[in-house]
This record gives sequence, C-alpha cells and structure tokens, in this order.
Amino acid sequence: MAEIKSLTCVDCGHGHQAELIYKCERCEGSLDVEYHSEVNGEEAEAAGKKESGIWKYRSFLPIAPNSEPVTLGEGNTPLLRMPSLEMELEQSEVYFKNESANPTLAFKDRALSVALTAAKQFNVEGVVTASTGNTGVSAAAYAARAKLPCKIYVPKKTPNEKLRLMKIFGAEIRLVEGNFSDAYLMAAQQAETTGWFNVTSTFLNPYAVEGNKTIAYEIHEQFGDVPDWIVIPIGAGPLLVACFKGFKELQLAGKTSKLPRMAGVQAASCAPIAAAFENGLEEVAAWKQPIATVASGIADPLTTYPKDGTRTLKTIYASDGCGIAVEDDRMLHYQKKLAKEEGIFAEPSSATAIAALEVMKRKGYLRKNESVVSVITGHGLKDLMSIQ
Ligand SMILES: *Cc1c(COP(=O)(O)O)cnc(C)c1O
Ligand SMILES: [Zn+2]
Repeated sequence: MAEIKSLTCVDCGHGHQAELIYKCERCEGSLDVEYHSEVNGEEAEAAGKKESGIWKYRSFLPIAPNSEPVTLGEGNTPLLRMPSLEMELEQSEVYFKNESANPTLAFKDRALSVALTAAKQFNVEGVVTASTGNTGVSAAAYAARAKLPCKIYVPKKTPNEKLRLMKIFGAEIRLVEGNFSDAYLMAAQQAETTGWFNVTSTFLNPYAVEGNKTIAYEIHEQFGDVPDWIVIPIGAGPLLVACFKGFKELQLAGKTSKLPRMAGVQAASCAPIAAAFENGLEEVAAWKQPIATVASGIADPLTTYPKDGTRTLKTIYASDGCGIAVEDDRMLHYQKKLAKEEGIFAEPSSATAIAALEVMKRKGYLRKNESVVSVITGHGLKDLMSIQ
C-alpha cells in the first residue's frame, strides 16, 4: 500500500505531515502528496480487485486502507474512437475519454469522491468550495452521500442547470458578484473561519487533486499503451497535472516506458496559461483582460493565485506539451459536430478539447500519425443556454 510520506511544497520542497492544510507553511506554495514507497503495480492491482471505478486504484490514493470510500460509482468511463474527426482532420487515431459518463456528469466526481472520503477521515463538520459549476454539483452530491453539509460559492453567471443540481443535492449556494477568482477568495475565507474542508478545484486541496490521477490509469488500460497526446481543457489545471502524475507513477511501477505529451486548452478570452506558453514564459500571470466566453467551466483568471497556473505550465513543459487557446465559435462548432456525428453532447468547455486539435495540427504540434486522446470533461445538459 502507498503510505503518505508528506505533503510536499512544489515550490520549496518543504515537507508537511498529512493533515488538513492547503499551503506550504514556509512559502505558501501548493502541496503535492508524496508516497513512501513507489507504488508497486502488481500489488496495486491485487489490492483493488474487489472495488470498481476509481477505487480499483485505491492503493494509489491518499486514503487509509481501512477507510470506507464515499462513492457514487465514479470513474470507469468509456474511451471511444472518433472516426468522423479522424477523417476531417486527416489524423490517424483520435479518441475521446467521455467523462460526462460520471455520476454527476463531469470528471470532478473523481476528485470529490476522494476529497469527501478524506473529509470523513479528518472528521470535518462540513465542506466548502468555490466553483464554476461542476465542482459545486459534484461536491454537493458527494457531501449528501457523506452526510455532511456543503456550502458553495459560485459566480453569478453560473449556468442555471448547475445551480439547480447543487440545490437538489441540498447544498447552500452563495452567488458571488464577479468571476471564479472572487468566489475562490470567499470560499477560502469561509473554510478558514469554520474549519470546513475546502474542496475547491485548484491546487488548494492535495487530496482532491489525487483523485484526478485515476484518469491516467484508465486511459493506460483502455488504450493498451500510452497515447502520444492527451488534450485537456484547463482552468487552473489540476486535472492535467494529476493526469501526468498518474502516467509518471505507471512509469515508475514499470508499466510503461513512455509518457504522453500534455496539451492544456483554454478559451481565448480567458487564457492565462495558454498565453504564457505561447510567449515562452516561465511563469503565469493573472488574466486581466475582460472575460467573455461560453466556456464558463474553465474561465479562471487565476487572480491572486497565478502560481497555480505556473504549476500547470511547468507540467506542460515537462511533458513537451503545449498550451492552446480556442475561440468560442470554434468550440461551439465542434460541440455541434460531436453531437451530430458522434452522438456525444459535451458542454462548451469540454468541446475545447476537440477544437484544440485543428490548432495543434496547424501549429505543427500534432502530427498525422500520432495518437491523441481528448478528454470530454463534462456534459452539455448542464449548460443548455449556450446551444445555438
Ligand atoms: C473544472 C473543469 C475543467 C477544468 O479542470 P481543472 O482541473 O480545474 O483545470 C474542464 N472542463 C470542465 C467541464 C470543468 O468543469
Ligand atoms: Zn514552500
């Protein structure tokens, strides 16, 4: 079993005990779960045989062996081939990983299942989150399952479908004037004063981030190897960073010798990480331009926490990947195309992972004979107003 060695600061390397903390005590950097021994692949598989979904990989997760998972059956989502896109793009192998098949219709369930299981371990009295929508829905559902109260801070413009889901799951919703970063500050403050677990999907909660790794193990199993590229829509980027970490663990466990190149995709009108990549910068700056995009799920200007973006940018560089910005008309075009030609209804934020492919080809990152997996992060039913 993988035992937690420390919560290690990604900026200064300082190690902390596995407690309920969110930032490095020395430099306020974000924390990464480090394990005692490298996870042994065979052992990991044997340990999880009786479980399904993400809990099949529980020995890769920062959860005590005797803890009962807070689960709704997340993970084990389909990896499917996309022939119409292969034709149109003249690309040999295009797949999508359909995360809209999760219990609350988005990949966030992977993170929230682990986060709520950790919350039970820490005996917290409740959970709080900032959200662009999907984290809130997922937090609300898993908190209901864990019998814990849940308070959610969301930008006023959050799609109504997502707000209704949070409500039916019994969460308390606070509508915030402004964007996701404004909600982020309020949730952090609330967590500090109440001691409730902050499960915001940035790099604040190291336990939640670990849940996202499971997407890598699944892609590896389903693809039968490691694809050349993995394309992921990013806000701050924890899914992208965790996915790459998952592949690195598989490499250490001797399961593969190859790592995928990671492409992080943002909407052109809120693209702090993609812009830093395009300009060849080492650090991400908070986004100051006005934000006007239908991709509300990934619109994170990183105000007050641009270092989270830098962590993602570093992962992109480490994987020899790329940052891509896509225009709204292209994501809406591909949202429609995916629905009409493949039977998949993705939310606009998720359609960016398809729209990015033509840009990656044009810019010469993606070559004709390379295999690529685009992650469809969430379901279109949760944002019907954006359909034209
Ligand atoms: C949260 C979210 C993302 C971005 O994920 P991060 O890991 O927070 O960067 C992408 N797509 C959708 C639909 C999301 O809800
Ligand atoms: Zn530090």
